[in-house]
Amino acid sequence: MTAKVHTTLTGSVIDPRFGAHAMNANLFDRLELSIAELTKTAITTPDGQTVSYADLIALSGRLANVLTARGVQPGDRVAVQVEKSVPALVLYLATVRAGAVYLPLNTAYTLAELEYFISDAEPSLVVCDPAKREGIEKLAAKVGAAVEALDAKGQGTLMDAAADAPDAFETVPRAGDDLAAILYTSGTTGRSKGAMLTHDNLVSNALTLKEVWRFTADDVLIHALPIYHTHGLFVASNVTLFSGASMIFLAKFDADEILGLMSRATALMGVPTFYVRLLQHPALTKEATSGMRLFVSGSAPLLAETHREWSARTGHAILERYGMTETNMNTSNPYDGDRVPGAVGLPLPGVSARITNPDNGQELPIGEIGMIEVKGPNVFKGYWRMPEKTAAEFRSDGFFITGDLGKIDERGYVHILGRGKDLVITGGFNVYPKEIEDEIDAITGVFESAVIGVPHKDFGEGVTAVVVRSKEAEVDETAILAALDGRLAKFKLPKRVVFVDDLPRNTMGKVQKNVLRERFSDLYTASARAS
Ligand code: AMP
Repeated sequence: MTAKVHTTLTGSVIDPRFGAHAMNANLFDRLELSIAELTKTAITTPDGQTVSYADLIALSGRLANVLTARGVQPGDRVAVQVEKSVPALVLYLATVRAGAVYLPLNTAYTLAELEYFISDAEPSLVVCDPAKREGIEKLAAKVGAAVEALDAKGQGTLMDAAADAPDAFETVPRAGDDLAAILYTSGTTGRSKGAMLTHDNLVSNALTLKEVWRFTADDVLIHALPIYHTHGLFVASNVTLFSGASMIFLAKFDADEILGLMSRATALMGVPTFYVRLLQHPALTKEATSGMRLFVSGSAPLLAETHREWSARTGHAILERYGMTETNMNTSNPYDGDRVPGAVGLPLPGVSARITNPDNGQELPIGEIGMIEVKGPNVFKGYWRMPEKTAAEFRSDGFFITGDLGKIDERGYVHILGRGKDLVITGGFNVYPKEIEDEIDAITGVFESAVIGVPHKDFGEGVTAVVVRSKEAEVDETAILAALDGRLAKFKLPKRVVFVDDLPRNTMGKVQKNVLRERFSDLYTASARAS
């Protein structure tokens, strides 16, 4: 059975002003139409910048004029690897406004990594940090791209050119399924792929989230996420802007700063690490969060324990949602109603989710574990220049195979049990890491854990628990194995428990299991040799 908990679109792509038949489906046009008050503050920064909606429109016009003058044509890619700043966000709007395709790149990528993205995407303009300009110019030259610089303060040759450009710019007409952005996936298995996102994908998701999370012009969002990723760029920024709300734009996460800002904010969107770190701060209290109405978490699993601790400390239930680069957001815990710890909630309005047998694509009954598949206006158009890969990831009825394993319970809540590639197959049995991690995390003295499969001569893969102890705890391998005994089927029990100080995480808070698998790859072969 397909879980279609909400099947009607609420103010989403079918709004006549914004719909597929609108004259211009350009995201920027739709955003401009939705702005009720031009003098309203859109963005503030801790260093005192205040940017109104009118300022945003004017700067986007100047930047769109610069892009056009640099030869950027509708449909061209504009690749951007810059630090977070207000002009960097406006560059996204300007690119889309010019009918071009915004292509943000993680600031951590090295020149060697950038070579792949630039040669694959063939942008006509690359905007980068001045410190990287020299190296990037060589890469850009190979594809005939122009280069402009923008630094962490939002200054550089791009803004110099914008200063002399006119505000007026006629937004380039686009169809709903024209591309607005390409976001490369993080590529932990194989080559990173460019997910092609359309104007309709982004607008429908922004309007849906605005509605389900009850965003209004009175909201003030603490924006501490990077803006090269779907979470900070689309979820946080688009929802705020489409609501006519304001955001406080922080360069990065800082627990002290965020706690200090809560008295003048209403919402925070973060990765689970934000919440774990805020919980370690003594200033996190009910009083400190009393003016806030919403804490959203996503991009990586939020431990049920973190959810509970947060409720106990602040009186707020974190609202966990689930999405990915390719699909924008798919599910969310409800605004009103049960926000279930450890679950990612119900399919969003207009989104359908189902669980299938990963081997043959057949739909599985409620409660059974399998592949999560989704379909809706949020789901991307395909991978850039990879038609075969795209075809392989979609079912014939249009459902996208997410690569996440999970289940849907009787109430329609989706539960994620890990990435398909993280599934451990031991002695022919499937072991879902999350199930084991939940058991281990409940053991006194354990802070958190990651369960991985490591090559094993007898079993193919050996279930291996990588554990971080709580501060000053002394729990050891024997104690953990003893605590698990009888709680899990024998084949699910870790063959080894190893301890680390921290789990390796990427900037979005995701545990990098590939790094752990690499690090412990000879755990069984080495110990076999030793014994
Ligand atoms: P990305 O494309 O970087 O946004 O990563 C998407 C992946 O992050 C998903 O396919 C999930 O594996 C994971 N993810 C996102 N949100 C959640 C969540 N709330 N709980 C667990 N995993 C999540």
